[in-house]
Amino acid sequence: MKPVYERFIENPDFTKPDFIELIKCAEDPEAVRRLKEEAVRIREIYYGKKVFTRGLIEYTNYCKNDCYYCGIRKSNTNAKRYRLTEDEIMACCENGYELGFRTFVLQGGEDAYYTDDRMVAIIKKIKEAYPECALTLSIGEKSYESYKRFREAGADRYLLRHETANEEHYRKLHPEKMSVRKNCLYDLKKLGYQVGAGMMVGSPYQTTEDLAEDLVFLKELQPEMVGIGPFIPHHDTQFAKEPAGSVEMTLFLLAVIRILLPKVLLPATTALGTMDPLGREKGLQAGANVVMPNLSPVKNRKQYELYDNKICTGEEAAECRGCMGRRVASVGYELVTERGDAV
Ligand code: SAH
Repeated sequence: MKPVYERFIENPDFTKPDFIELIKCAEDPEAVRRLKEEAVRIREIYYGKKVFTRGLIEYTNYCKNDCYYCGIRKSNTNAKRYRLTEDEIMACCENGYELGFRTFVLQGGEDAYYTDDRMVAIIKKIKEAYPECALTLSIGEKSYESYKRFREAGADRYLLRHETANEEHYRKLHPEKMSVRKNCLYDLKKLGYQVGAGMMVGSPYQTTEDLAEDLVFLKELQPEMVGIGPFIPHHDTQFAKEPAGSVEMTLFLLAVIRILLPKVLLPATTALGTMDPLGREKGLQAGANVVMPNLSPVKNRKQYELYDNKICTGEEAAECRGCMGRRVASVGYELVTERGDAV
């Protein structure tokens, strides 16, 4: 019988036991080589050499949630809190627009100051100023009604990583239940957002079975985007002493996800670049086709500290844009300015 990775390449319609077997190949160099080769082949069918870019605006680090891994969790009293004003957010967009960004991502903690009314106002303002740009929200768990209002105000996309598809594992990482987050993702889909799910790789207590469930969940949800990156400990959390997730496993899973969801928009994440100076380039060579440079004001960058040693906290957006362009080109791809919607 053919090796499991060849069967996956032929027909990625796998079940949980198949995925478990597949994930066990992550340490087999030939399997990794074949999967990456196939992932790159597929991404080039749909996207050629293009890499899309999203301007990330980390607009608040206040958060009412208490995710055990996250540096901006509410119980971290050492976190220096900030929130951008509407004018500051608009200035980030303006700066980004001039640099060629046509997608803005508003990401933040779950900050009660930003009520639905305030969010709707800011969404409208951005979409009025930049009608040809896509606006992505990454602001956590909200009600169907809230998501609906944001969508009607003009938000196009929503990133909400499911973090782990296994309920028991989820409860080891969060005080709340997982079902909420999964339901949110289905709500967002129903409302016509382009939706992004995803998980941390190597988070504490994660097993191969959990990762297999993540893949089954992604197959079922069929999101337009998938964000994955290695877990990285933060010194002020209870996981401070836990080992970080592996770059190799992240790259392996990027390739698997590209094959599983051929047209998916798949970022090479900052966390991957934090764990390995060439992590993002390696991500692109494993099937990723999106990068998300930071547009946040430099004075606040270090405060949006989800994990330790986060990169790109000292440079102006223009420098990040230039650096990213060179990094993408170094592996034979081209950073483009188009919106980069799901195909
Ligand atoms: N409040 C928003 C944004 C969360 S931050 C929301 O709930 O969706 C964005 C992502 O950063 C999270 O979904 C999580 O997967 C990732 N993240 C948080 N802490 C991390 C850590 N210690 N290591 C790696 N990734 C982390």
